[in-house]
Amino acid sequence: MTQVKTTCPYCGVGCGVTATVKAGTLCAVEGDLEHPANYGRLCVKGSALHETLGHHGRLTHPRVDGVNVTWDAALSTVAQRLNSVRSAHGNHSVAAYLSGQLLTEDYYVANKLFKGFLGTPHLDTNSRLCMASAVAGYKRAFGADAVPCNYEDLEEAELVVLVGSNLAWNHPVLYQRIKVAKERNPLMRLVVIDPRVTDSCEIADLYLGIKPGSDAYLFNGLLVWMAQHRRLDTVYIERHTEGFDDALAAAQQSAGSVADVAAACDVDPERLETFFYWFASQLHVVTLYSQGVNQSSSGTDKCNAIINCHLAGGKVGLPGAGPFSITGQPNAMGGREVGGLANQLAAHMDYHTPGAIDLVSRFWATENLTPTLPESPGYKAVELFEAIERGEIKALWVMATNPVISLPDAARVRAALEKCPLVIVSECAAHTDLLPYADIVLPASGWSEKDGTVTNSERRISRQRGMLAPPGEARHDWWIICEVAKQLGFVEAFNYAHPWEIFDEHARLSGFENDAIHATPKRLFDISGLVGLGRAGYDALAPIQWPVTKAAPNGTARLFEEGEFATANGRAKLLAIVPQWPEQALSAAYPLRLNTGRIRDQWHTMTRTARAPRLMNHRAEPFMDVHPDDAHAAGVTDQGLAVLTAAKGEFRARVRIANAQRRGEVFVPIHWTDCFTQQARSSALIDSITDPLSGQPESKHGAVALAPL
Ligand code: SF4
Repeated sequence: MTQVKTTCPYCGVGCGVTATVKAGTLCAVEGDLEHPANYGRLCVKGSALHETLGHHGRLTHPRVDGVNVTWDAALSTVAQRLNSVRSAHGNHSVAAYLSGQLLTEDYYVANKLFKGFLGTPHLDTNSRLCMASAVAGYKRAFGADAVPCNYEDLEEAELVVLVGSNLAWNHPVLYQRIKVAKERNPLMRLVVIDPRVTDSCEIADLYLGIKPGSDAYLFNGLLVWMAQHRRLDTVYIERHTEGFDDALAAAQQSAGSVADVAAACDVDPERLETFFYWFASQLHVVTLYSQGVNQSSSGTDKCNAIINCHLAGGKVGLPGAGPFSITGQPNAMGGREVGGLANQLAAHMDYHTPGAIDLVSRFWATENLTPTLPESPGYKAVELFEAIERGEIKALWVMATNPVISLPDAARVRAALEKCPLVIVSECAAHTDLLPYADIVLPASGWSEKDGTVTNSERRISRQRGMLAPPGEARHDWWIICEVAKQLGFVEAFNYAHPWEIFDEHARLSGFENDAIHATPKRLFDISGLVGLGRAGYDALAPIQWPVTKAAPNGTARLFEEGEFATANGRAKLLAIVPQWPEQALSAAYPLRLNTGRIRDQWHTMTRTARAPRLMNHRAEPFMDVHPDDAHAAGVTDQGLAVLTAAKGEFRARVRIANAQRRGEVFVPIHWTDCFTQQARSSALIDSITDPLSGQPESKHGAVALAPL
C-alpha cells in the first residue's frame, strides 16, 4: 500500500488529496492535511474521486476515420493532415482549443507548438468561458492578470462579499473555511449578492437578491456612497492609483441616490445601504466573485466596478482585503500562465507587450524559422468556431474539453464542426457528444495517471501526481503533442523525456530577461526561482504561490502590498464604468431571464462524476428551478415536465418550483449532455453574445419561454 499526494482535478480551490493505492487500485482518498488550500478538507466531489475511476468507458485506442490504428499511424496521420491544411490554406487555417483540465506542462507544449512552430495565433481555451472577464479586469486595473489575495485572507477579513458565486456548491472547501472563520470570529460578516437564494446564504448576515445584470449599478452606487460619506482612502488614491475622478464621475451618472441604485438593482434600499455602510466602514474586506459576474456581455466592466471600490477604499494588498476572482477549473490559471488564451503570447506576455515577440522567438529559437511567431492575437473561443463556420479555419485540435456542450449556441458549433475538414480530438472518455465530429481520436491519460502541475485560484502551484497506469493505449497529452511536433520536424524543440523538463523550460521562460530588458513593468508571473529543480525536486515540489524568484524563493502570499502595481507607471487604474444590461433581451416571445450554473455534486459534462452513484443521487436528472408565480402563469407544476424555448433551441426537463428564484427568472444546470438525455443542454438556450473586451459569453443571461410538455 502506498500513499501519494496529489491535487483534486475539479474546481479552482485546488485541494490537496492524499490517495491510497493498493495492488494497482486507488482505493481511498482523503484531504491532504498539509496542503494550504484545504488543510485536510475535501468536498463531496473530491471525497468520491476513487469511486470515479476504472477503465470502463475510457478511450483506449487511437482512431483515424473511425478505424483503430497504432500510435505511429495516428501521429503520422495527424502530422500529414495538419501539413496538408497548412500547405493549402496557410498557417492561420490551423487552430487548437484547449481546456482548464489540462496540466500546465500539456498547455505549455501546445502553446509552443501552435504559436511558436506552426505560426498560428488561433489557440484558445475553455477558460474563456469561465475567467476571461476577470483576467481582463485585473489587467486593466493592475497591469497584470494577477489575483492579489490568498485563501487565508478569507479568514482574516472582517467582511466577505460573495458576488455571483454560490460558493457553498461550487467551491465548497472555501465556503467551509469561511464558515469556520465566522464561528471563530462572531464579528466577521458575510454578504451574498446573487439573484438566487442559494445554500451560500445559510451563513450570510445580509442577502441582496439583485436583478440579473445589475452588478455594475450596485458597485458604482457603492463608490458614490463612499465619496458622499467620506469613506474614501484619499491618501491611497493619491499615492497609488489613477483615474479616480473619471471613475467617480461615471459612477455618479449611473448611480445617484441609494433609492436610485436600489431601484436599478431591484433590492430593498435599507438593506442596500447596510451593505454600503459595512463595506465602507471596514478595511479588511474581500470581495469574491465568480461566473455570475464574469459570464456577461459587460463582465469586464463589472469586475472593474468591484475593483474600483477596493482601490478607492485602500482595500488591496492587505491581510484580509482585496478583489478576489475564483476560478472555476483546476488549472484555469496555469493555462493563462503559459499563454493559453488567444490574446496572450506566452508566459503572461501579450502580443503588444514591448519586446515580447522577439523575446519569445529567441527563447524558443524560432526566429529563423518559417513561419515566424504570429504578430497579433488569434480568435477567442466563440470567434474561433465562427471562423470554422466561415471556412477560414480548416483544422482544429480539441483537447480535454467538449465545445458542442459548453459553448453557447450549441447547434451552430455542431454545424461548424460538421463543415471543418479536419477535427482532431484528444479525450479520456469513450463516449462524448464531440467524438462523432472527430476525424482523428487520440486517447489521453487522466487524473491519477499523469504527472504535472496546476495553479489554483490563489496563484498556488501544486503537483498532480501519476500513480496508476493509463488504460490500453492512452497516452499523456504532453507526450501526444510532442510526438506530433516531432513528426512535423521539430524534433529538438520538443524532445522532452518527462514533464519536469517542460516545467523547467516554462519556469526559465517566465524569468527570461525579466531583470534585463523591458524592465518597466516587470512580468509579475515569474517562477524562475523554480528553475533547476531536477526530477527529484519536481517530484517533491510542495505547493507554492507565484511569483517565486531569487528575491522570493518561498513564493508570494499576497501581491501589491507596497501599493506598487504592474502598470507602466506603477499605479493601479480605476475605470469609468457605464453599466450595461444583458444583450440577450427579454421579449413577449421570450419573457423569462435564464440563469445557468453548476450543481453541487457534478462536474462539467459528468464524464467522471456520473460514474459515482452517490454523486448522482444529489440530482439524478436535469431540472429547471421556477418561481411559483411563473409556474402558475405557464401552467406547469412541481415535478411536471416542461420545455424552455429560446430563439436558438430548447431544453426539456422536470420542474422544481422554487421560492429561491426571483419572479421572472429560471435556473437550469449546465451538466447534462445528449449522452445522458436528449434536449437538456443549457447551451442550446444561450445566444453567442460575448463581452467585447474579454470574449466571454453571456451564459448567465438567456431569454426563454416556459411551457408544459
Ligand atoms: Fe475538489 Fe474543489 Fe471540492 Fe476541493 S472544493 S475537493 S478542489 S471539488
